[in-house]
Amino acid sequence: MTRVFLASRNAKKLEEMQRILAQHLEQHLGEVEVVGLDDVPAYDEPVEDEPTFTGNALLKARAGATVTGLPSIADDSGLCVDALNGMPGVLSARWSGPALGSKEGQDARNNALLLAQLSDVPDERRGAHFACAVAFCHPDGRELVVEGRMDGRVIRETRGDGGFGYDVLFVADDRPGLTTAELDRAEKDAISHRGRAMREIAPQLATLLGAR
Ligand code: IMP
Repeated sequence: MTRVFLASRNAKKLEEMQRILAQHLEQHLGEVEVVGLDDVPAYDEPVEDEPTFTGNALLKARAGATVTGLPSIADDSGLCVDALNGMPGVLSARWSGPALGSKEGQDARNNALLLAQLSDVPDERRGAHFACAVAFCHPDGRELVVEGRMDGRVIRETRGDGGFGYDVLFVADDRPGLTTAELDRAEKDAISHRGRAMREIAPQLATLLGAR
């Protein structure tokens, strides 16, 4: 049995990552137990103050490996909007200000702010992409990092009740007509920034962890 620690507090993201990882790692490594932040003793998580997704993902994975002694994975992700010069980017989670109250409340405030900022931006200039860096850190110091992206655009009203964060405002080029909050989980995994990054890192991880 291989145990891997996923350093994330976001329940929906954790669930998404756990699903993809278990599916891909088990092909290579046999049974894999993926444990999350709630399964390990609490520790001081690092402040995500790096200017890049990769930098923040590495910070979190390194801290996880140091504290838990387990091979650790972390991701950092966000929405990069062309008309905002790539913002909110690494500030996506706290775009409307520091997190207060529920995750759903914060998501709603972030979405309302983004809609207001783009209210004058015409349809042909509403391009955006989600980006995700996934970092892996083994307690022995070996590291991997990969990035994935999902191109699309920001629409003018929220739609759908799946996913999280900016999904209700985002239509992917690979699935025109539906927001990523209107896709089922498997459909989103198949095209998402996180799904792509996780599928890319999974076989590398299997090799590093000693595939059978
Ligand atoms: P992180 O937890 O620092 O990676 O913050 C990621 C933030 O980016 C989330 O809180 C969301 O606002 C946004 N985000 C990242 N991935 C997604 C996604 O798949 N759908 C919608 N929003 C996302």
